[in-house]
Amino acid sequence: MTPGTGDTVCDVVIAGGGPAGSATALTLLRQGASVVLTDPLIADPGRRPEWKLGESLAPRAWPLLERLGVIGRVADGTHTPYFGNLSSWGGTALTDDNFLYDPHGPGRHLDRAHFDRTLFEAACAAGAVRRAHRVRAVRRVRDHWKLMLGGETVRAHYLVDATGAGAGVARRVGAAVRRDDRLIALATRLPPGGTAQQPSRTSLVESAAHGWWYTAPLPDGTSLAMLMTDVDLVAEHALHRPRNWWAGLMATTHVCARVGSGADPAAVRLRIVPAATGRTRPAAGPGWAAVGDAATATDPIAGRGILTALATGVTAAQAVRADASGDREALGRYAERVQAIHAEYLHARTVCYRAEDRWNTRFWTRRHSHSPELADGPGPRG
Ligand SMILES: Cc1cc2nc3c(=O)[nH]c(=O)nc-3n(C[C@H](O)[C@H](O)[C@H](O)COP(=O)(O)OP(=O)(O)OC[C@H]3O[C@@H](n4cnc5c(N)ncnc54)[C@H](O)[C@@H]3O)c2cc1C
Repeated sequence: MTPGTGDTVCDVVIAGGGPAGSATALTLLRQGASVVLTDPLIADPGRRPEWKLGESLAPRAWPLLERLGVIGRVADGTHTPYFGNLSSWGGTALTDDNFLYDPHGPGRHLDRAHFDRTLFEAACAAGAVRRAHRVRAVRRVRDHWKLMLGGETVRAHYLVDATGAGAGVARRVGAAVRRDDRLIALATRLPPGGTAQQPSRTSLVESAAHGWWYTAPLPDGTSLAMLMTDVDLVAEHALHRPRNWWAGLMATTHVCARVGSGADPAAVRLRIVPAATGRTRPAAGPGWAAVGDAATATDPIAGRGILTALATGVTAAQAVRADASGDREALGRYAERVQAIHAEYLHARTVCYRAEDRWNTRFWTRRHSHSPELADGPGPRG
């Protein structure tokens, strides 16, 4: 590559500083690569979100966090222990799927915005050059990528899309995103409620006619309460209106008992966030790779989004290194692996939703008809 005067030159530019982008950066930096890590929100203290959805971190993530060298930063007491999942799914009784025998101990209910910042700052401390710009246009110029970050020209041998489920960068370089559903989350934080003296340190799922409800205790003492449903059903039942959303919550058995009925429905501010399953094809190509949700975005019922973000970040970084060392099949193998992981997840998702057959409503019948295969598989958040 022949850089212009004043251009920033690096081995890899990573768009997106969520868990996937930071895990990719940390792995690449350990391998000796030079990295620019850019995120318009996380890198900019003035624009960082106060809270972010996606708080349940399963214990299976500990080995990855250890490998990334961030376990001490994550286990600093900010996040609270997460002992397992309770679910009312396929019946009214609660099923307990706890982490009692997990060799890694409990997971964590995260202050998610803090968690993402921690990983991002760890990557910057390890040598990533931070930028607070959104990656927009990218151009392949001979053997490298050229892009603008604000007024700065950046040239890099490799480009990583860690921008989340929109996969905006991968789409710009020719990949296609396929969505498998139109799942959406309607969530809020509620003040401490319920009858229990101490908050239960578990996540709780309860299925309902038009989707499923979820609650988890957050480290700040509030509870997350969330309805997962489909976009068209939100419109049809006006579920985005706090009053209707609240009525649905009050009609649940277990979630309602957990969060209590004391909150003022008029004060409820709903955050509405897309949560569709989707995959990017291919998930990598010559000189680029997609990681995390930008590669494979999964239903929160699986409770594995953060884990997959970290794992794909590590694996993609290894593929980039192998490619740089002359293994021209490495990025293709990574893309195939992502496809295989996504196919396995789709199968597990179908098995999970088929375990709930009490409602003949569109939310459920859509999900029952997805895959022809049936086998034993994980339940909610398994
Ligand atoms: C409602 C909901 C609940 C969930 N609950 C859980 C849970 O309990 N446990 C779990 O493990 N997972 C959960 N997930 C999934 C999990 O949050 C995601 O899988 C995870 O955030 C993916 O990480 P990521 O780094 O790939 O993407 P993200 O976390 O989405 O980060 C992407 C980053 O890219 C930045 N960005 C976007 N566009 C650009 C651009 N053009 N240039 C530069 N930067 C850009 C954004 O600012 C953002 O910081 C949940 C998801 C949803 C929607």
